[in-house]
Amino acid sequence: MPFKFAVAALLTLSSMSVYAAECEIDVISTDQMTFETDAIEISKSCDTFTVNLEHSGSQPVGSMGHNWVLAKESDVSDIAAEGIAAGLDNGYLPPEDDRVIAHTDMIGGGESSSTTFDVADLEEGEDYTFFCSFPGHSTMMRGSVTLVD
Ligand code: ZN
Repeated sequence: MPFKFAVAALLTLSSMSVYAAECEIDVISTDQMTFETDAIEISKSCDTFTVNLEHSGSQPVGSMGHNWVLAKESDVSDIAAEGIAAGLDNGYLPPEDDRVIAHTDMIGGGESSSTTFDVADLEEGEDYTFFCSFPGHSTMMRGSVTLVD
């Protein structure tokens, strides 16, 4: 009996600590040009935040490529437009662009890519958006990023 109790207590403790340290999210992207996530909340208690992007489809990067890009809402259309000009070799992102807060690699079906950024880079009260910068994807593949307590 004491042993069973100890195991239960340990399980409870470990799931609690996972919850408290939720500074990471898995985002699935698909062959249907979608993210299976439309809003991400980031706790101010996190020092860094990690996004693990997966592509659950099977199409190659050149026809259904996806990345996860974080920027201010107001910068998204300009970054997406300039990203098209930058081409696939640059992951459809303007190189070394300060407006891009974080981004993963551009990936195809079956691939994954992660990015980690400092939560201190996000300003309270600012509107942030995540999107895919593959040509034509940013209107459908986007969502909000909100800083929360
Ligand atoms: Zn995409």
